[in-house]
Amino acid sequence: GDDETVLLAPVMEDCLVLVEHVLSKGAIEVRRDFHEAPPVRIDAGEIQQVIINLIVNAVQAMETDGRLDLGIEPVARDGRDRVRLTVRDTGPGLSDEVLASVFDPFFTTKRAEGTGLGLSISQTLVQRAGGIIHVRNHPQGGAEFTVWLPAADADS
Ligand code: ADP
Ligand code: MG
Repeated sequence: GDDETVLLAPVMEDCLVLVEHVLSKGAIEVRRDFHEAPPVRIDAGEIQQVIINLIVNAVQAMETDGRLDLGIEPVARDGRDRVRLTVRDTGPGLSDEVLASVFDPFFTTKRAEGTGLGLSISQTLVQRAGGIIHVRNHPQGGAEFTVWLPAADADS
């Protein structure tokens, strides 16, 4: 895609509008913890696709009710300025087996609606932008996906 200098907070808001019909199916509370962060250099449509994949997975994991925690924060990692984006849910989390395979193409535990491509494609898009995507079980329960994207250079 065509890289642009994008701020993640408005992209996140666009994603929430696009998944409104999914969120409104149950009683899912959305919490935002958005800190002021520099823009990132990425194709806006691609990062939107990544965020939507993460949100839809989170909602599917929680089924009918729970809490979706979205975060944006500037951080330093590997000696670079980055923006950290987090999508956390209060679903069952992932078994060790699932944790080992979530980013593999066609890996799915879903019977009907799963293609198993969402996270594989998301990882490709994030890595192409110089970023990192990671998943863990949050110590307080649920799955937490974290994406670190390089901050755009001041002159880009
Ligand atoms: P799909 O959603 O089509 O199954 P994905 O690549 O998006 O494919 O996800 C792969 C698998 O990772 C899912 O089938 C599910 O087992 C697991 N997974 C992804 N996100 C979550 C989550 N938030 N909580 C629990 N399991 C998850
Ligand atoms: Mg998915």
